[in-house]
Formats: sequence, structure tokens, C-alpha cells
Amino acid sequence: MPVVTAYLALGSNLGDRLGQMQQALERLAAGGVDVLQVSPVYENRAIGMGEAAPFLNAVAAVATGLAPLALLDHCLAVEQTLGRVRTEQWAPRTIDLDVIAYGELELVSERLQVPHPRIEQRDFVVHPLALIAPDLMIRGRRVADLAADLPADGLTLSGDSLQLPA
Ligand code: ATP
Ligand code: CA
Ligand code: CA
Repeated sequence: MPVVTAYLALGSNLGDRLGQMQQALERLAAGGVDVLQVSPVYENRAIGMGEAAPFLNAVAAVATGLAPLALLDHCLAVEQTLGRVRTEQWAPRTIDLDVIAYGELELVSERLQVPHPRIEQRDFVVHPLALIAPDLMIRGRRVADLAADLPADGLTLSGDSLQLPA
């Protein structure tokens, strides 16, 4: 498999949020994913989750030789090792790893859709992504333009930062 640049979104609103995000990067890196760049960490109200705890969110650029579904499976496995329990939809979670984009691939399959289907509405994805990949095209639009069109009212920079895995 050729090496592709992919973008992953990380989110956590349960437990040691920042620690789990950092651990996710380390564990991703241990399985065929080279973490190239990580965005600043944002804090975000939990959309659609009532009074749930706020999220920390960030995005990472990675290089990987994993095929799209193998990358998804690696993300899901890392979530599992970090105590992710799937209950109801959009429940609080120790870690959520979404495949935002996989090169320029456009794929809709049962288990994986890339680019991720809900990017354009998500300030907590679009704004950090615009900082590390402004020229990335999502369904025909530059990420920088998506960011310009999407208010970031509910987002604040948390002041935390994630480290590239050693
Ligand atoms: P959302 O996808 O709206 O952000 P979520 O992240 O809470 O919601 P999950 O329960 O983590 O949803 O994932 C449900 C399923 O979504 C996964 O098992 C996976 O098969 C599927 N899926 C489809 N496309 C993607 C993608 N691009 N990244 C991650 N999972 C995806
Ligand atoms: Ca998600
Ligand atoms: Ca997910």
C-alpha cells in the first residue's frame, strides 16, 4: 500500500481527556501510523449531548501505509484500549478517533465514509483542521473556506498541547 496522508480527529469528554488524546497518538504511532502534525487543542461544548461534559478536540495529520479500512480498524482498536464504551449514540467517551480524510479518496461504504460525512457542520473539526491543512479539499471546498463560513462561538483554545509521539 502506498503511503498516504490522512487526517484524524480526536475528541474526549470523559476521564483524563488530554492524557487519553496523547495516549491515542502514541498508540496510533505504534501501529503503522506516522503522526506528522497535531493541531492545538480546543475545548468545545458537547453538541447534542445535553449537559454532558465539554470536549477537548484536536486533529492530526498522519502518514500511513494502512488501507482505509485498516486505518479505521486501527483507530477503533486504539479507542478500545483507551476504555471507549459504545452505549447510545454520541454518548460521553474517553476517546473518539474519526478518519476525517484519507488522501483525496472519496469513499462511501458500510463501515467507512471519507471524507467524514459531517465535517462541514463541525466547528471543532473545521477550525483545528484549517490550522494544519488549510488547502485540503473536502467535497470540493478548501478547509480554509469551510472555516471562514463556520462560526467558532462555542470553541476556545484550551491552552493544552499534544506532543508528536517520539
Ligand atoms: P460521528 O461519526 O457522527 O462523529 P461517533 O464518532 O460518535 O459519531 P462512533 O460510534 O464513534 O460514532 O462510530 C460509529 C461508526 O461510524 C464506526 O463504527 C465506523 O464504522 C463508522 N464510520 C463511518 N465513517 C467513519 C469515519 N470516517 N471515521 C470513523 N468512523 C466512521
Ligand atoms: Ca466522532
Ligand atoms: Ca467515531
